[in-house]
Amino acid sequence: MTDGETLTIDDELLARARIHARDVDIAVDLARVEWEVSTRARRRAGACRWDREREVATIVLTRRAYETYDWETFAAVVRHELVHAWEFQQFGESGHGQRFRTRAGELDAPRHCETFAEPRYVIRCLASDCDWEAHRHRASGPVKAPDNYCCGECGSDYEVEHAESGRTWRSASGYGGAKAALEEEW
Ligand SMILES: [Zn+2]
Ligand SMILES: [Zn+2]
Repeated sequence: MTDGETLTIDDELLARARIHARDVDIAVDLARVEWEVSTRARRRAGACRWDREREVATIVLTRRAYETYDWETFAAVVRHELVHAWEFQQFGESGHGQRFRTRAGELDAPRHCETFAEPRYVIRCLASDCDWEAHRHRASGPVKAPDNYCCGECGSDYEVEHAESGRTWRSASGYGGAKAALEEEW
């Protein structure tokens, strides 16, 4: 990175992941780990590849997961992938068997590869000077009845977007209307 250049979200993601990896209590040779960001992955928050010839593990982290998860959840994904890297380095193979689950449990990491879904609903504050945004995978109270809640940051009204269709609403009746209009596309 040259002087004056701003950090991209990918730079930030990788920097935080690498710093976190140094603090994780697992005997991974980080000199033989490479890091990548996936901008396309839609289903998986992370992955770990093994190059047998070079004996290098590549941890691939998904940008959308970083943007959507809170840091604690994302850090747990980093630890999950580090367990894969550790297995590859130690045993030349990796899966989600007993050895993996034991190690992942010790590190408070998920035992299965986190499948990651695009948020179904995006909540956005309507105040022009507030950029609060939240994601929901289920039609929870704030999704179904925005009139009963307010922005988590400034207390203003917000709108909800059905991410796939782009339809928005600001009230319980708006929610009902959008749902009825979309029918099976919902
Ligand atoms: Zn996994
Ligand atoms: Zn707000």
